[in-house]
This record gives sequence, structure tokens and C-alpha cells, in this order.
Amino acid sequence: MSNSTNIPFLDLVTPHVELEPELTAVFQRALGTAAFIGGPAVENFEHEFAAFSDARYCVGVANGTVALRFALAAAGVCAGDSVVTVPNTFIATTEAITQVGAIPEFVDVEEQTYNMDSAKLRDFLDHQCDADSLTGRRISRRTGRPVTAVVPVHLYGQMADMDAISGIAERFNLTVVEDACQAHGAEYFSVRDNAWKKAGSIGKAAAFSFYPGKNLGACGEGGAVTTNDEGIARKIRMLRDHGQAKKYYHDMEGDNGRLDAIQAGILSIKLKHLGQWNEKRRECAAVYRRILAPLAESIGLPFEPSWSRAVYHLYVIRYADRAGLQTHLNVCGVGTAIHYPIPLHSQKAYQGLGYREGDFPVTEEIAPQILSLPMYAQLRPDQQEKVAEAIAEFVARQQPSHAIASSLAAAAGD
Ligand SMILES: *Cc1c(COP(=O)(O)O)cnc(C)c1O
Repeated sequence: MSNSTNIPFLDLVTPHVELEPELTAVFQRALGTAAFIGGPAVENFEHEFAAFSDARYCVGVANGTVALRFALAAAGVCAGDSVVTVPNTFIATTEAITQVGAIPEFVDVEEQTYNMDSAKLRDFLDHQCDADSLTGRRISRRTGRPVTAVVPVHLYGQMADMDAISGIAERFNLTVVEDACQAHGAEYFSVRDNAWKKAGSIGKAAAFSFYPGKNLGACGEGGAVTTNDEGIARKIRMLRDHGQAKKYYHDMEGDNGRLDAIQAGILSIKLKHLGQWNEKRRECAAVYRRILAPLAESIGLPFEPSWSRAVYHLYVIRYADRAGLQTHLNVCGVGTAIHYPIPLHSQKAYQGLGYREGDFPVTEEIAPQILSLPMYAQLRPDQQEKVAEAIAEFVARQQPSHAIASSLAAAAGD
């Protein structure tokens, strides 16, 4: 295919062009008032993002990693606890767990959504833990520590199966802290509540990242915690500001974990567009689903359960010869990325946790196959068709017996 027009994996320039006058006004306002840290810009954004996420409170912080660490600490996770999450996520999830002094433990993901498998969570608590006769808590046999919290990650913009996870958490007295860093605005239909629920509104607390490439990104670093618990919100306001509610009166040690006013102002402007940007991403996902359907025998496409409204932070496909496909797409001018190539339990950093290859078969099976295609609100259908053509070309070359390219062309024309 012709590579006269490259299709980048991510385009962070275009979305800021039309907003530029509004965005620079934020900076000018900050210069004029010297309100750089805290103040009304941060408070306004917090109110707006709480409303967007259907949560009672939002506390702006420095980044998503800090958001998760503060959320865990404020929700009562202590040094020496075991906290369960998945190996198919970004390392920030487990860094935050370690930073509160807890030990991360993993359960495998589901074959179709690549998110936490609630049956495996249940299995872990039933068969790899003992009940503590004093507290009733589960004690992990691997770590000898009490399992006090679970961190479902809403990976790629799709929520984990929260009814199932919340039910198990209640039964075993675990605190649920959502890693919603990729899921701003994602929704889950809760049968328990008979309602669509937003990411960040279900757990005891939830962490969001506003890293530039996220669905809602700052022009720098940023993050937030959402919660319906006033005590947790208050505690995080202190944690982000050196443990003080009143200047120089420190009830505890905290950190410098504040969101700055310029980023908050920028986020307020971009938040007004987020609903529409997420809708565009969903449309792009629908286009990919339609034009890649003829390849569905060779390529695994994202699965969206009926209870999910994903916001497609990433559009992740699966293919056996991932390396070959990625190289071919690169030659065709199509940018791709891998989220994530090495599961956390296989990372050098976590050798000390003592996991072995084979411990998480689904995660290990998908890790060498997953490939993230270009996905952003500004992506055009004609660009997506070029992506699909390039994929079809490679797949047909691998499996010439399948006249895939021609059936793809037919599907693209309908
Ligand atoms: C981006 C991300 C984080 C961390 O956010 P930062 O703002 O980069 O610290 C945590 N968890 C997941 C799943 C993420 O994608």
C-alpha cells in the first residue's frame, strides 16, 4: 500500500490546535494572579470531574501513580498487607501498592476482555489463602500477609466486571480501589444497582491519570482520586499537601502530590470535550470492528460485553505473528504500540515476588500477541481503512489460501 500519508499511533498536536486560545488564556490568568498551586482553578476542576464521574468527591493530585497510592492509603491499606491486582497492566498499578508498604499479588485476566477474571479472584481467596481465626481475614499463603484490598484495572478504557468483583470483595472484607487511569467516562451496567455506573464511582476510591496520552490528558502531569467517602477525600487532601489541613500543622506525614492550577485550568477546558471525544473513539472502534470483521478468524478483535460501554483508550487486537504484523504496519506508515509486552510477574523488578512462568496462562498467552492500533478522537475512517488494508495485506501473505483481502475490500465498500 502507499505510505504517502502516515497514520500515527497517537496525535497529541491536533486536539490542542483549536483549543489553543483558550489554553493559553489559562496560562495568562495564572501569570496575572500568581495562583499556580491550588486555588479556584483546582477546586473548579475537582467539582467538574466529580460530576463527570458520578462521584461525590474528586481530589486533584500530581499524577495517576500518586492518585492510586493516596487512594490505597486513605482507604486503609497498610504496610504489610497483600493487595490483589492483575499482571496485565502498567507497572504504576503495582508501584502504588508497594509504595504504601503492601505486597502486590496477582490473579489472571479473562480471555475475552483482558481484565481481571473474577472467578480467578474467587479461586485465589478460596484456595490460596487461609482464614485468620481472629480477624476472619484471608491470609495469603504466598506472602503470609492479610489480603485487604483488590485493585481492578479498567484496562484499555473498558471497566472490569465490577458487580462480580464487588460481591467477592464484600464477602472477604476487601477494599476495592479502582485503577481507572485508562477509563475516564467508561461505564458498567450494574445489575446490583440496576444502573449504568461510571468508572470511579463504584469502588471505595478510584485513581485517574491525566498523562497527556490518556483520554483526558493535561499538558503535563496530573491525576485525581474520586470517592463517595468524605473521610477519604479529606485524607487525600492532606496527603497531597504534606499531611496538613492547616498550614504548618502536620497531623501526619504526607507528600508533595498536588495538582497545579495551570493543569487544572487546562483540564477543565478539555473536560468539556471529553464526552464527545469518547463518543468519537467509540465510533472509531465501531468502524474498526466492521472493517476488520472479515479478518476475525485470524485476528482477535476487542470484545465489549453487553454490560460495558468502553471508551477505547486503546484499541488492542491479537495476532499470532505480532512482531511480523507490527513491522509490516510500520513499513506501511501505520504507527502501533504494545500494552504491555512483558507481564508484571515476569518483569525483572518483580523477580523477588517469586512468580514463575506458567502462573498466569491467559496473560502470558496474550502478551506476545497484543497490538494497539491507532485510536484517537481525530482518527478518520479513511485512515482506519488504510490501517485495515495494511493488516489484510499481511494476513493474506501469511495465509494466502484465505482470500481475505478481497473480502475486506468488499466489506469496506458497504
Ligand atoms: C497511566 C496509568 C497509570 C499511572 O498514571 P501516571 O499519571 O502516568 O502516573 C496507572 N495505571 C494505569 C493502568 C495507567 O495506564
